[in-house]
Amino acid sequence: MQIQAAVVSEEGADPQLESIQLDEQPRANEVLVRVVSAGVCHTDLSTADNFYGGPPYPQVLGHEGSGVVEATGDEVTSVEEGDHVAMSYDFCGECRNCLRGRIPYCENLFEHNFLGRRPDDESSPLSKDGEPVSGCFFAQSSWATHAIATEQNIVTVDEDVPLDIVGPLGCGIQTGAGAVMNALAPESGSSLAVFGVGSVGISSVMAAANVSACTDIVAVDLNQDRLDTAADLGATHTLNPDDEDDIVDAIHDITNGGADYSIETTAVPEVLRQAVDCTTIPGECGLIGAAPAGTEVSLDMHTFHFGHKLRGIIEGDAVPELFIPTLLDLWKQGRFPFDEIITHYEFDDIHQAIHDAEEGNTIKPVLRMDRP
Ligand SMILES: [Zn+2]
Ligand SMILES: [Zn+2]
Repeated sequence: MQIQAAVVSEEGADPQLESIQLDEQPRANEVLVRVVSAGVCHTDLSTADNFYGGPPYPQVLGHEGSGVVEATGDEVTSVEEGDHVAMSYDFCGECRNCLRGRIPYCENLFEHNFLGRRPDDESSPLSKDGEPVSGCFFAQSSWATHAIATEQNIVTVDEDVPLDIVGPLGCGIQTGAGAVMNALAPESGSSLAVFGVGSVGISSVMAAANVSACTDIVAVDLNQDRLDTAADLGATHTLNPDDEDDIVDAIHDITNGGADYSIETTAVPEVLRQAVDCTTIPGECGLIGAAPAGTEVSLDMHTFHFGHKLRGIIEGDAVPELFIPTLLDLWKQGRFPFDEIITHYEFDDIHQAIHDAEEGNTIKPVLRMDRP
């Protein structure tokens, strides 16, 4: 079938809407989804710029898709035509970490999300003029009017939830919320400092304020609008590094000796250092920001020795099939108002959406391919 997709033709190129071919018939474990909406995540933009050695060009990105199931492969049993779904990251389900339930740390995560091809036979469901176009990005490539997902990476959502808000739960929002709710799991009365309050960091703030019982929640960002939004959504303190002599000292002052927990979302080494140094003895820092391979950071081994912890967190340590329905329940209860950070754009306006994301004008852009 012919679909409309946002195609990145070469490294660093802007995606262009094109008509391309998609294999209509899903394979045994696959699901054909009519895409209703898809978020714009930083990982899309860095993949287009080839930060991670991702899919060969031309490629179709998009990994926060939502939509309606149109067809299923022979072996698919958990969803059927007409179901409303969110698409998240994919995993192998067979390696040691998957078997242990630690699927964000799947040993085959790259092949299942960044190859641009099906991991079993390296084919792509997308093509143009007989030439392959990389699809399968996070087993979806959902910057398109239709997507092929797998039974593993789709999550059924209730039909009373608007489909055009659920896409970002599959990556950015799940990542930020899960870092607090699943990975760091702060004890009541804890303090938390969040470095960078884009969509991921704000989701951490919302989770800390409304779901955990953190009492001091410090948001740090250079963008005053984002700090204001963070304050509206639960940050008890906001700090702009441009206004502070020493951001680490400022956090130590607010938290009476250092934050119990911190989260780093910017992928800037100097900021990770601050996120470690701002924690109390023995505080814990969670690294979420994805830096290019080879990026190094320095730490003071003497102070770090005093019980500090630093851990990387992928996809909020979340099992999407469990966590996305949890986040939607919390949203329905008014405890996780993630829709407030979403701005919608028509698919045709993808360039504006990307521009606004890069400039920090929009916290979470979501493209609308179709209205449900
Ligand atoms: Zn695995
Ligand atoms: Zn993402």
